[in-house]
Amino acid sequence: MKTFKEEMKGYLKKWEASGNKVTSYVCQHCKKKIKTPQPTKKLVDSRGYWDSMKKCYECGGFNFVLIYPTGKTEVKTWGIKIKEKK
Ligand SMILES: [Zn+2]
Repeated sequence: MKTFKEEMKGYLKKWEASGNKVTSYVCQHCKKKIKTPQPTKKLVDSRGYWDSMKKCYECGGFNFVLIYPTGKTEVKTWGIKIKEKK
């Protein structure tokens, strides 16, 4: 039986092998850089990004991540503002 991490690594390999890009976000729980598929412009809707709940393959924590076709990523948390820009 494969671990979740092995499964994700395998999935990312396939994603890259089919000519797609991989980007990364920083997990809010373990602070590690987590690789994730990067969408092409064709794959995103009119908002211009992907948003999804992602399970970190390092610590198992959940992050709500926005991923842009440029490779930019944003991690959202609920109810808690980590940084406030003024
Ligand atoms: Zn993590």
